[in-house]
Amino acid sequence: MRSVFCPRLVNGPFGDPALYVHLAHRGQALLFDCGDLHALTARELLKIRAVFISHGHIDHLVGFDSLLRAFLYHDLNLQLFGPAGIIDQLAGRLAGYTWNLTAGFSFVLTVQEWRGERLETTVFRAQNGFVAEPQPGRDCSDGLLYETPYCSVRAARLAHGDIDSLAFALEEPLHIAIRREALERRGFLVGPWLAHFKDLLQQQTPGKALLAVPLAAGGTEQVPLGELVEEIASTERGMKVCYVTDASPTSANLDKIVALARAAHLLVIEAVFAHQELPRAQLRNHLTARLAGRIGRLADARRLRVFHHSRRYLDRPQLLDKEAQESFYRGL
Ligand SMILES: [Zn+2]
Ligand SMILES: [Zn+2]
Repeated sequence: MRSVFCPRLVNGPFGDPALYVHLAHRGQALLFDCGDLHALTARELLKIRAVFISHGHIDHLVGFDSLLRAFLYHDLNLQLFGPAGIIDQLAGRLAGYTWNLTAGFSFVLTVQEWRGERLETTVFRAQNGFVAEPQPGRDCSDGLLYETPYCSVRAARLAHGDIDSLAFALEEPLHIAIRREALERRGFLVGPWLAHFKDLLQQQTPGKALLAVPLAAGGTEQVPLGELVEEIASTERGMKVCYVTDASPTSANLDKIVALARAAHLLVIEAVFAHQELPRAQLRNHLTARLAGRIGRLADARRLRVFHHSRRYLDRPQLLDKEAQESFYRGL
């Protein structure tokens, strides 16, 4: 399957958590956690449309100012989702600066806080000096925080000591591959219409509705959607990437993660300590590498990528990955 999600750990396995997911062919990205973001260029930052924060510990949120700095002068709306307390935490961050000269700016930050039942929303506008403007919330007991025609993000609440840490599953509703040779045979041009065609397929069952298809010979041809699907596309289960971090090693958490990550193509999950340091992991409310691998195996994930390693393993940089992969592939 050609990947539509291109995930990248911004700071590697030992640095602050931040998973940048570029959405192929859309010029957009999503960000999971907001640790140090200096490794991202302004161009990369400005592609971000939504940010998903697991929890408010400093290593997951310190990069927020870099985002704010990049977006401030742009006519963009950035959405940010997080657990209980995130609206007040970001209101506090925004209140830490002076905003007397931003009346003409159009940047809007929408912060949404999920506590398990409802999604509460507060808007912060640069033109108002980022004063909090609470909006009507909505029911969100299914955890479906974010939905577009081409991807959705669902969350699960994990215990991280006495606070929530959110884990996220990013999913493509239906994976649509275009058969290039079929395009050429019909004399259709490759172009932006293909993204529109895929969006239509995600939203409706293909029928007799017509789509204007540009031709290599010039002009366009009106082709029924149903006919196009049969001739140029093949579909399969959509891609799924799951992001999990900062979870106490409890059986309740493990069950929730396995359910969220079920059949993921990629599970990106924390592996903070080696399993022989399980007592330390329990004390610090983190997963061990072996548990990360076991979760991936139980969830039947296709690939496993571990991160958020404790710096005490810097002199043995492969150790945690090795332990996790052995557990994942061989059930050790
Ligand atoms: Zn952390
Ligand atoms: Zn934490």
